[in-house]
Amino acid sequence: MAAPRRSGAHAVEALPTAMDPTALSLNENPFPPLPSVRSALSASIEAANRYPEYLPERLRALIADRMGLCDEQVVIGAGATGVIMQVLHAVTSPGDTMVMASPTFDGYPIFAQMARLRSVTVPLDVHGHHDLDAMASAAADARVVVMCRPHNPTGTIESAADVERFLRRVPRETVVLLDEAYAEFLAPECRLDAVGLVARHPNVVVLRTFSKAYGLAGLRIGYGFCAPRLARQLWTMQLPFGAAITAFVAVAASFDAEVELHQRIQMITSERRYLRMRLRSMGVYSAESHANFVYVPDCGRDWGLAFASTGVRVRQYADGGVRITVGDRRSTRAVVAAVGRTLR
Ligand code: PMP
Repeated sequence: MAAPRRSGAHAVEALPTAMDPTALSLNENPFPPLPSVRSALSASIEAANRYPEYLPERLRALIADRMGLCDEQVVIGAGATGVIMQVLHAVTSPGDTMVMASPTFDGYPIFAQMARLRSVTVPLDVHGHHDLDAMASAAADARVVVMCRPHNPTGTIESAADVERFLRRVPRETVVLLDEAYAEFLAPECRLDAVGLVARHPNVVVLRTFSKAYGLAGLRIGYGFCAPRLARQLWTMQLPFGAAITAFVAVAASFDAEVELHQRIQMITSERRYLRMRLRSMGVYSAESHANFVYVPDCGRDWGLAFASTGVRVRQYADGGVRITVGDRRSTRAVVAAVGRTLR
């Protein structure tokens, strides 16, 4: 029997709730868009009968200007996901090798499969750090190597010196995806000079997104930047009319609201510190996170099972570890209660 028809009002009801303290599995921002961003978005909907730009040149210029890059160094995608697929389409052929850490962002093995690549995985160490020596060795025979900083799911970062050493070891013919999806959560002293880095390393593509710190995951806006030569190659994969009409206004309004967004980032990072402190006080180890989530390794307990009956949704890993997105104080209380119940 065909599914019953649903009205537009029902479709709106089926949307996820903006403020949901139990939604801790996707590393989303717990706050709804800022009022100024929301009103810019509403205004842009008025022109939804029109196509967006053929290629997102204005959005590219806006981001390039903000970052201190030339326009031709920037590419735009449907989230960082879109940019990753654009890179894979532009620089790989089926059967090529892609090196990644294990575990890593769930998307990477899927993207590799979609591009018909062979995935080679390099385990993280016990503290959730990359084995950069092993990754550089594996990269010698690979077309693409991925490094996330902060890493997903652990939230850990490698030092700027280690990143530089790693990049010097990777052959020029291997493209490095330096995934900075969570870069805005980093303390200033932990940030890389990503613009300087792409100037020194012509094979590095830095990935960023508006899904995390900017809180616009539902709009699917991401970007990448790299040396002009490689960027020109990536731009050939820019999907015509691919960036929605909402993207340019949302990004422009977000850049105008940088102070408020920064306050929200600080709320999230201080909540993360509080959550880790509460876990520590219960004797529960979490990796040292620099992002909007914390990773609790199994340590002999199946945390996934512990959360399963609580209604708090976290990302569970096969070994029993969990990645918990940082939400507001209600979320922290729910997490602490779930962990407390397991320990009793
Ligand atoms: N990279 C990393 C490390 C991520 O964790 C995510 C999302 N969880 C992405 C990329 C993709 O994000 P988006 O496509 O929403 O920009």
